[in-house]
Amino acid sequence: MTVVVVGGGWAGLAAAISLSHQPRAVTLLESAPQLGGRARVIKLGGRILDNGQHLVIGAYHRYLYYLQILGVDEREIFDRQALSFTLFDLEGMTRTLKAPHLPAPIHLLIALVRGQGFTAQEKLAALKFCARLSWRRFVCDPHCSVADILNQYAQPPALVRALWEPLCIATLNTPIASASAQVFLRVLRDTFTRRNKDSHLLVPRCTIGDWFVAPATDYLLAQEVSIYPNTRVVALKIEDDVVQGVTTSDNQFYPAQRVVLATPPHVTASLLRGHPMLDELASKLSMIPYEPIVTVYLSYGPGVTLGMPMLGVLGGTTQWVFDRACSGDDGTFAVVISAASPLRDQTNLTLGAHVAKELAQVFPHLPPAISIQVVREKRATFLCTPEVQALRPSTKTPIGGLLLAGDYVDTGYPATLEGAVISGYNAAQISVQ
Ligand SMILES: Cc1cc2nc3c(=O)[nH]c(=O)nc-3n(C[C@H](O)[C@H](O)[C@H](O)COP(=O)(O)OP(=O)(O)OC[C@H]3O[C@@H](n4cnc5c(N)ncnc54)[C@H](O)[C@@H]3O)c2cc1C
Repeated sequence: MTVVVVGGGWAGLAAAISLSHQPRAVTLLESAPQLGGRARVIKLGGRILDNGQHLVIGAYHRYLYYLQILGVDEREIFDRQALSFTLFDLEGMTRTLKAPHLPAPIHLLIALVRGQGFTAQEKLAALKFCARLSWRRFVCDPHCSVADILNQYAQPPALVRALWEPLCIATLNTPIASASAQVFLRVLRDTFTRRNKDSHLLVPRCTIGDWFVAPATDYLLAQEVSIYPNTRVVALKIEDDVVQGVTTSDNQFYPAQRVVLATPPHVTASLLRGHPMLDELASKLSMIPYEPIVTVYLSYGPGVTLGMPMLGVLGGTTQWVFDRACSGDDGTFAVVISAASPLRDQTNLTLGAHVAKELAQVFPHLPPAISIQVVREKRATFLCTPEVQALRPSTKTPIGGLLLAGDYVDTGYPATLEGAVISGYNAAQISVQ
């Protein structure tokens, strides 16, 4: 039995790891020179940086399970911290939420009750919201947007702006007016209501390449998985409704009884097109829209620190600021701007200068930035709306032996590292059946 995994992002890597435990030959084909996909390292201005600042939380169970398989001690790459964040409002007061070491969901309720900068009315509304969602098991009409559900539960506009909107944009990369309430509620449920440690923030101690890609590559090579970077798959071979293998741009044919396509939806759509049984699936996938994320790296020189691993900013362009000192980049901050399509026409120079100005407003004693670099990922994630939820495919396709993986496959989660890894795991499980 031969299995070909197409795409070496986190979904493809997870699939290859699980498949490597079976008695079968596994080949991983990746079009880029490096593995990691959207969660990779890049070289910028002579430095190794993340393609975009990422955050991992304790609820990423499947990812943490893979770390165990790879023999990586979580503490080597992350500093686990209890849920705690500060939101600095450029137009008003600072708000903080800090969860105590108590079982979930009590820790969340106490964090809300003790939250600083929130009015009594806002706290009561947030508590009622959580209680009523819990009563309804965090399930809602799948057609609802996050704005609809917040409105339905009478959330005060100031609370929406200071809490629910930043949380929704950070997790779904979609504005509240169009974001899927069902997916957002699932994120809230899995992060805050089950175990205290699910809501932990895993502050990275190293660049993103060491979180998964480097140990996964070593592991796969040790398991005798063949890895081919710079190898673009351009066609599938299908006979009698069963997959036979894939062809690459250099006209090589890789025969396989199972093929896991762990490519982004637009690439998967182009590979599926032209096969009568796959045309409907291909046209659905080609309708999945993307939303950009922008990361602005600002270097201030050694010793300059935020004083905390991350900080939220309200009322401007900046959304979240990460102190990169923990990842070995002393004096560098990463500013993350999600749902960034409105910034499409702004030049990097203007955007960088604007973000630097906002940071100077938050930290008046900050020295001038030595360097500012902007990384834009146009297809950062799929736009997580109720309409797109209906387009997300399952792992299985109508073609025998052909399976799909990737953060866009219907796992119930938004486009995240955890969603990608779950999809890869699922594809591997099904392919051994
Ligand atoms: C800036 C940014 C910030 C993010 N922040 C977070 C965060 O904080 N937390 C979080 O959980 N998630 C975050 N995400 C989302 C996360 O990065 C993605 O959900 C995840 O990396 C998707 O992995 P994947 O394997 O599904 O897809 P991809 O990473 O896109 O992998 C697909 C792979 O297929 C390869 N490929 C494409 N075409 C072919 C072909 N024809 N042949 C062979 N190979 C091919 C690609 O080169 C790529 O390596 C962020 C994403 C971005 C861009």
